[in-house]
Amino acid sequence: MTGIIQLLPDHVANQIAAGEVVQRPASVVKELLENAIDAKAARITVVIRDAGKTLIQVTDDGLGMDVTDARLCFERHATSKIKTADDLFSLHTKGFRGEALASIAAIAHVELKTRQEEADLGTHLIIEGSEVKSQEPAVVPKGTTVSVKNLFYNIPARRNFLKSDAVEMRHIIDEFHRVALAHPDVGFQLLHNSDDLFNLPPTHLRQRIVHIFGSKTDERLVPVEEETEILKISGFVIKPEFAKKSRGEQFFFVNNRFIRSSYLHHGVVSAFEALIRNDQHPGYFLFLEVDPHSIDINIHPTKTEIKFDDEHAVYTLLRAAIKHSLGQFNIAPVLDFERDKNLDPPYEFQTRTPRMPTIEVDRDFNPFREESQKTGPPVFQKKQTSWESLYTGLKSPGSEAIHEFESSPDPEKIFEDQEFEEKQLTLQIQNKYLVSPVKNGMVVVNQNLAHQRVLYEELLKNITVKEAVSQQLLFPLKLDFSRPDMAILENIKEQLEFTGFIFSNFGQEQLSISGIPVLVQESRVEDLLNEMIAAISAGIPESSFSQNDLLARSMARSMAIRNGVFLNSGERSNLIDQLFACKEPTVCPAGKPVFKMINSEDLDRKFM
Ligand code: ADP
Ligand code: MG
Repeated sequence: MTGIIQLLPDHVANQIAAGEVVQRPASVVKELLENAIDAKAARITVVIRDAGKTLIQVTDDGLGMDVTDARLCFERHATSKIKTADDLFSLHTKGFRGEALASIAAIAHVELKTRQEEADLGTHLIIEGSEVKSQEPAVVPKGTTVSVKNLFYNIPARRNFLKSDAVEMRHIIDEFHRVALAHPDVGFQLLHNSDDLFNLPPTHLRQRIVHIFGSKTDERLVPVEEETEILKISGFVIKPEFAKKSRGEQFFFVNNRFIRSSYLHHGVVSAFEALIRNDQHPGYFLFLEVDPHSIDINIHPTKTEIKFDDEHAVYTLLRAAIKHSLGQFNIAPVLDFERDKNLDPPYEFQTRTPRMPTIEVDRDFNPFREESQKTGPPVFQKKQTSWESLYTGLKSPGSEAIHEFESSPDPEKIFEDQEFEEKQLTLQIQNKYLVSPVKNGMVVVNQNLAHQRVLYEELLKNITVKEAVSQQLLFPLKLDFSRPDMAILENIKEQLEFTGFIFSNFGQEQLSISGIPVLVQESRVEDLLNEMIAAISAGIPESSFSQNDLLARSMARSMAIRNGVFLNSGERSNLIDQLFACKEPTVCPAGKPVFKMINSEDLDRKFM
């Protein structure tokens, strides 16, 4: 019997390798950018079409390749960067595995144009699915252009697996940032369809950061500098008062290579301890230089993880260096750590004259009174309160169907029975739960989730019906965003306007807002927009219906009364009334239960 083992044909092996190297368009961008850097380019231009699904093109003015190399570079394990295994420990290049181009050529239509400076003619080569279709001499500029078209054309499963353009583009921009930050002396340009997303002139690190993340960043940076025998640290952290709720800019580079390390991240976070709140994330751009012999970068195929010989020492030094910088630049003492925004009065109260607290006593309350036992679902009292709605604009929503949820108990029925007596107190427990007696027990409502539900339905109605109430700002609010973030906002501009935003200027990196939705506090607008950007880049389907939903959801989440805020009796009953006027009061927009019923049988059981 003959053996059953066969060698895989090259193109199959390449396709398998491609699975490791190329997960998505952004992986291609990363590999091509790194090759351009390794080729000592001074200027690199990236052209993307349809988030890389149609075209990824990287042009550099680097060393170029001769005819032989132009063909050879698509072979697996073809690299000019290492010759022996020893070279692995003194790497000065990004690439070294000789896998990227072979992998990319296995799963896309690739075109290469390249010329070395001293050569008169360059090479033009076309390769599809690892098969060379043509190779000709050509008149091309010095350097190299690699065009990758129709990525995953021969692996439909992978192609179908790609996310929306917004998400894929976000990944591409992330990779672009990483390479551009590591090489401020190189000029970079990134174009997507007709948008000129970044045009970064050669400069130094601080300017590069500012060019990428906007001019406001400059005053937020605190330099970090430390040099010891085993480690050199340089770069910047973002001042604690500008820490973001969403994970902001967090970059580690080791020997100029972007890496991820939750361990080192923890070191940074601990240096910020007590300077930022638990729900905030520090921003940093940190460059570590170590002896290449003391690290192993080869433990992950896409090379973003790293192993240090002495991880603990690196951690301690990093933490100390940041603490030192924050102290030296007098960051720490000016901060008011204790201030909790939750304790600020909500906007609605800021404009009101304070009222003396009153104690309300229900004189008719009799704990021993028996309630007539009835069967059927719990019944809520329907109050005819004369309370002016605290949450202006929150009339009960219109009649259009918004969402269908399966729910129990049926909220309609809670209102149907009018027999339940009037004048019951709604209590607030731990400034978080509202407790109200109902027909056969009690209902416990989470105030934050309840308000989210109320706001969500109202906002969704505003967006879909396209009517909203704005509050004019006395002074327009100017906010800075990076270009890609602005592009995201531009996409949802209309919907934002339907919620009540009025934009007086929509620049490339700056936004002027002259009106905001009635329910939003001005101080929360920036957070709100950042949350929205984060949510959208984290991936939502592109239909406008889902976008509306997302928008309404994140606005509701950001605007809702927090847990921990005291509500007076009018506010409590108002919230409860509004909640049960909702189409779907049982769950919050994210699907969590808004209230729980505790019926008298549950209570009885507790006393057995
Ligand atoms: P690696 O970068 O790991 O060596 P690649 O598959 O990315 O492997 O590239 C293979 C080889 O092709 C490189 O080692 C380099 O010699 C050559 N090469 C790739 N891109 C370029 C470029 N933009 N300019 C010059 N040479 C390049
Ligand atoms: Mg490479």
